[in-house]
Amino acid sequence: MSTAEPRGILFDLDGTLVDSLPDIIDSFLHGFAHLGLTAPSHDEVRALIGQPLEAMYTVFAPEHVPTLCKVYREHYPANFHRRSRPFRGVRRTLSALRERGYLLAVATTKRGDMARRFVEAMGLSDVLHHVQGTDGFPHKPAPDVLYRALDALGTSGLWMVGDTTLDVRAGQAAGLRTYAVTWGTHSQAELASASPDELQPDLERLLDLLPPRR
Ligand SMILES: [Mg+2]
Repeated sequence: MSTAEPRGILFDLDGTLVDSLPDIIDSFLHGFAHLGLTAPSHDEVRALIGQPLEAMYTVFAPEHVPTLCKVYREHYPANFHRRSRPFRGVRRTLSALRERGYLLAVATTKRGDMARRFVEAMGLSDVLHHVQGTDGFPHKPAPDVLYRALDALGTSGLWMVGDTTLDVRAGQAAGLRTYAVTWGTHSQAELASASPDELQPDLERLLDLLPPRR
């Protein structure tokens, strides 16, 4: 097998591989209670997940962003696995793709250290070749985190898989085919507006799209 052949598959983490939104929302709202501020609704927060923390807090409390981020970054690492778990079939799908000769990486807006801890806690470290966080460079929809993930894999990419239009746009910007799942943050209609190549309720279709390599 030539190493020049593209065989990289990139996955967003939160809302794509792992049903982590309830823990993220709980930690996000914790800061408002901590500071005695009026909190936004779950749905208002959920709609913004996938964006950097600073951008999310700016929407609701622009004058308190540094403090809210600090409180979140203390609360979330102690509470991130209370309710989070991989979506149904994720581990099986990743294992099958890996056995078929593809190289698999996470490309997330989470910070790298937190992303690696989270993947480990969810029991997915051994089925992924790399976990790439966003540490001090432009976040999705910029393609930077995707390029870094592919550099780490040592291959070029085939697919970007994600649950938001940010993932789809980042994949398109990096020249990848894009696969959107409807079980995460953005609705089917919202995802369709970004014109992904695939729009699916789960990851099952990936196994049809990615046959075993020779
Ligand atoms: Mg996501």
